[in-house]
Amino acid sequence: EQLEKGKEKIMDTKCPYCSVQCTMSLIEEKIITRKRFKAKPNKSDPTSEGRLCIKGVNAHQHVISNERVTHPLIKIDGEFVKIPWELALEYIAEQFKTIQREDGKDAVAAYGGGSLTNEEAYLLGKFARVGLQTKHIDYNGRFCMSAAATAANHAFGIDRGLTNGLHEIKDAKCIILAGTNIADCQPTILPYFRKAKKNGAYIIVIDPRETGTSKLADLHLQVKPGKDAYIANGMLKVLSDEGFLDEEFIKNRTDGFDHVLADLPSIDLEEMAQQSGVSAEQIKLAARKYGEAETGFLFTARGVEQHANGYENVRHFLNLVLGTGKIGKHACGYGAITGQGNGQGGREHGQKADQLPGYRSIENKEHREYIAKVWGIDEKDLPGKGVSAYEMMEAIDQEEITAMLVMASNPVVSNPNSIFVEKALKKLRFLVVVDMFVSETAELADLILPSSSYLEDEGTMTNLEGRVTLRKAERPMPKGVKHDWEILCDLASALGKKEGFSFSKAEEIFEELRLASKEGIADYSGITYNRIKEVGIIWPCPDTNHPGTPRLFDSSFSHRDGKAKFYPVQVSRQFPEISDEFPILLTTGRLMEHYLTGVQTRRSPDLLSRAKEPLLEIHPDTAATYGIDNGALFQIDSKQGSMIIRSNYSDKIRRDTVFAPFHWGDSQSINRVTSPALDPFCKMPEFKVCPIRVSPLVER
Ligand code: SF4
Repeated sequence: EQLEKGKEKIMDTKCPYCSVQCTMSLIEEKIITRKRFKAKPNKSDPTSEGRLCIKGVNAHQHVISNERVTHPLIKIDGEFVKIPWELALEYIAEQFKTIQREDGKDAVAAYGGGSLTNEEAYLLGKFARVGLQTKHIDYNGRFCMSAAATAANHAFGIDRGLTNGLHEIKDAKCIILAGTNIADCQPTILPYFRKAKKNGAYIIVIDPRETGTSKLADLHLQVKPGKDAYIANGMLKVLSDEGFLDEEFIKNRTDGFDHVLADLPSIDLEEMAQQSGVSAEQIKLAARKYGEAETGFLFTARGVEQHANGYENVRHFLNLVLGTGKIGKHACGYGAITGQGNGQGGREHGQKADQLPGYRSIENKEHREYIAKVWGIDEKDLPGKGVSAYEMMEAIDQEEITAMLVMASNPVVSNPNSIFVEKALKKLRFLVVVDMFVSETAELADLILPSSSYLEDEGTMTNLEGRVTLRKAERPMPKGVKHDWEILCDLASALGKKEGFSFSKAEEIFEELRLASKEGIADYSGITYNRIKEVGIIWPCPDTNHPGTPRLFDSSFSHRDGKAKFYPVQVSRQFPEISDEFPILLTTGRLMEHYLTGVQTRRSPDLLSRAKEPLLEIHPDTAATYGIDNGALFQIDSKQGSMIIRSNYSDKIRRDTVFAPFHWGDSQSINRVTSPALDPFCKMPEFKVCPIRVSPLVER
């Protein structure tokens, strides 16, 4: 689109990155021959309240990057060359059909992402199950929310990131932030916590590192990576011993406390302290502050969840919430702070191996029949449950999956044990990647299809509160590019499945999604584009007059009997421990400047200039022990593999732990060394703890 010199174009949009989904006006103007952009936050946004972080301010930069792919590309003799859309679609359809004929229907898999709009996430699930008729579909949100989602489903009967609207935080008198670094990961909601503190809240942060979030804390429990459950169970013991449990609430609104009670005498506070690396006095203080507060919130995020016992970790923390009855009333609740832009909506509508739209279960006959009817197919033709994201990589290695469609994801960087993952992906007979850029995964593809950006693609996103919001298309997409949903419709048509995929705009897909979610757990049936054109609505919203549901569980939980469920307090796993060979624990996480594997943010000059390369945060004492100079390149080794990284001295981290961000690929990918251990309940990989050794490249 040509913008006249001196004219400006105002785009009402939202940041595509994290789960807050801050809204803004993006002003584009032409100065001589150059385009200039200015982002103005939207003060009437009920979630961000007129704030934007550095990522939001610079989000448009990747949209105008000249690295964008604007033609389908096919690999011939190791080189990508342009191919017309019609031929690309025909070729993909032929390849998928041939592979399914020879290797079976389930040999073709789909791999999605938590940044897709609800409409696209929904359509990808439908495309996999109806278009390809494969059971194999999963997505990168498996690495983001699966532990908290499974835990909340089992404890409450429903999984929505936050059980209460953010506006209630200011009235809480105690807040526990376990494994969440809001200051860097969701910076625009930090003021809610500042306000609470100003109003007298006691803030407890549980994190192995001092962070921008821990600066806010009255008490910082610097836990050994992975040992969070020992803090939770120690706290429960203190709450019980010192009479802080809400017996009325436990009796009337929960189930399973008898088992907890039976196990509590076996909990030894000194042992919990020794295991967690946090003193018994600090555990006691945390328990007393949470127990005596009239109101309180407990939040978890990836620090607690990305472990091979992430599900259990969350359940142990939820025992504290249920034991004190701090849920289902004003300023009392639980929140799993979602990471990805549409991490919440992306997991509600069917791109997860075990779920159908509206959070229906793929293993429940009634649920299957309902969705089959919406999709106009026989329930018997609806495939069953596939495997999780990392397990797909194992299935590729075993040659059970031999072709894959990847959409809005970069699995070769985001999966743990990425050296193995790269080798596996190279075994595929056929790999198609839909992306805006030639990501590290796209480099391995046989064919790349170019997709549109957040400024060009209309659709709904569901933020961390469960608020369903509408993002309009404000800029024409480059010639030669298509929306992800259009690509899915075209591919279905090329496969001979036109019926059920002939949508001409995103709103039509949303109308079908409304029906598919009706009376499901995540019920969107009362939400229309018209109702959310200004401000979003928080689900469940069962009819078009319903205002939405900011707070859950006022009178009942979502299990059939209306009761929440406790979880036994035993910690049932062997933790990865340090050894002489691997004497340090590695933990990984985000930086404020980057998003996911950095495919978009590394193409934003302003963001890249602030964080050019991954740095390993290491305590100076630890570095001295192993001869690592500050700012020096050195080698990390684990059982899985090696990488070279630069050191960054910090006395804000435990001496037995180092931290690295995961936003870079190829030789700079920290997932070359991370562990492939999976949580047995939810299949979350263990990104947050891995024994490693560090060695200087040049001996001192
Ligand atoms: Fe808002 Fe998150 Fe974007 Fe920052 S990254 S502007 S907090 S949506």
